[in-house]
Amino acid sequence: MIVVMQQGCTDEQIERVQEAIESKPGFKAPVWRGEERSVIGVIGSIYPELQSELELLPGVVQVLRVSKPYKLAGREFHPDDTRITVRDVTIGGNEMVVMAGPCSVEGEEQMLSTARIAKESGARILRGGAFKPRSSPYSFRGMGVEGLKLLAEARDETGLPVVTEVMTAEDVEVVAEYADILQVGARNVQNFILLDEVGKLRKPVLLKRGFATTYEELLLSAEYIMAGGNNEVILCERGIRTFEEYTRNTLDLAAIPVIKRLSHLPIVADPSHGTGRWHLVPSMALAAVAAGCHGLIIEVHPNPDKALSDGPQSLTFENFQNLMNSIRAVAAAIGREVAPPVEAPTAG
Ligand code: PEP
Ligand code: MN
Repeated sequence: MIVVMQQGCTDEQIERVQEAIESKPGFKAPVWRGEERSVIGVIGSIYPELQSELELLPGVVQVLRVSKPYKLAGREFHPDDTRITVRDVTIGGNEMVVMAGPCSVEGEEQMLSTARIAKESGARILRGGAFKPRSSPYSFRGMGVEGLKLLAEARDETGLPVVTEVMTAEDVEVVAEYADILQVGARNVQNFILLDEVGKLRKPVLLKRGFATTYEELLLSAEYIMAGGNNEVILCERGIRTFEEYTRNTLDLAAIPVIKRLSHLPIVADPSHGTGRWHLVPSMALAAVAAGCHGLIIEVHPNPDKALSDGPQSLTFENFQNLMNSIRAVAAAIGREVAPPVEAPTAG
């Protein structure tokens, strides 16, 4: 349920409504202050008389039932887009933000060289996995904390904020120490213990859709994080599993406009995992931009043939630089901004 307040109502009136709600056991009343009106959420086990009780309070215009099961992640309670700012980057606004980097952190030179190219090409956030979920236990499973340190070093040199995956609730603390954005991967989208744990942070979370997760399930997973008080959730469409075998996954482009309709949270697309093949990444990246995504997350590697994970879907530096130019053109066509290339510092 939501309480819609009168235009120009006082802070005292808002507080009074909040107190009336939160005085009930187990109830929470987050306030959203919009440009025109303020709205207060009613979260708890709602009983029939509550609606008329709240309607009587001063400053209240209307009390409405929210039909969707995701109250905090949905647009009903929060009509304006959420913008999430990480250092000097804002995701969810007019800028289409590119996140780029290798699938896995493999070493200092690999990470730093990729970070430099990412920065020079206009990427705004650096990616790289230190804790890797792998289908086979014999595959490279990441450098762990050493990898986190290399990401931090690359951030210090380039100024690019870092996004990296956290796989278990126990690792949240150490990953949060190094990361600017914590990624919850496709395989963990319904790991509710992990979602609760990242919900306790006050740091952005990139929540990836699972192989077989519906839009509603994805938004309910975001709701777990938000119910813990962490409102900074960025959603990610990274492809779902279908009967098609040519592509690793089927990138569901419709997810972009659907999520934008249902939720105020930013949505980014991952054409790398969404296709599994580097030669498909540019077209799907451009299609996702045209579809209105707030950002892209793209795998880039200095030598994809030698990558310890996801080489077949990783772009070379040259392919990534070319793609960034095309991304700028498509973004400009729909009135979106993309950061310009940054000149490399001259040696000496
Ligand atoms: C990744 O980003 O490298 C990754 C493992 O992604 P996903 O969880 O989408 O498979
Ligand atoms: Mn990967």
